[in-house]
Amino acid sequence: MVTYKFLNVIERCINCGACFCICKDKNKVPHGTARVQIVTINEGRPGEKNIPVSCMHCTDPPCEAACPVKAIWKREEDGIVLMDKEKCIGCGYCGWACPFGAPQYPHELHGDAAEYEGIMDKCTLCVIPFIPTGTYEAPSPRCALFCSTKARLGGDINEILPQYRESKARNIAAWQERV
Ligand code: SF4
Repeated sequence: MVTYKFLNVIERCINCGACFCICKDKNKVPHGTARVQIVTINEGRPGEKNIPVSCMHCTDPPCEAACPVKAIWKREEDGIVLMDKEKCIGCGYCGWACPFGAPQYPHELHGDAAEYEGIMDKCTLCVIPFIPTGTYEAPSPRCALFCSTKARLGGDINEILPQYRESKARNIAAWQERV
């Protein structure tokens, strides 16, 4: 069975913002919310790190357990965690339950998106855009596809885990050469 996940090689992230931009464009995510954002720790100090943060499509999602109306479910066939906006009541419990703060509470929306004001939204691995169309696209996370440094890996865990391990091993070897 395929299991889709994200992995971040954080040493490689240069905070270029490509993941944020391509996600906004592909999924038509309006101003006032984001499905992936880059968090910087130790900014301007030794050890600065940039981390792309989105839904990680947890194995046992706490957001799903916290949702009182069962608007969140994990797809059996590929492990992608999805959200049904028709069922969502905007209580925000999923946002509190998620360790990454991934489910967002959109506000100040305009145009066609205004209908989804106060309805939670999060990454779907590019399966469902911000305004649902009623159909599911094939999973193909654009944030990972367009990451120029390959800091962001997304897809079948059996494919991305070897890439992640290779990158980490290379980083450790480079670090050992420097010290
Ligand atoms: Fe896990 Fe948060 Fe994604 Fe839910 S929204 S699956 S808790 S990372």
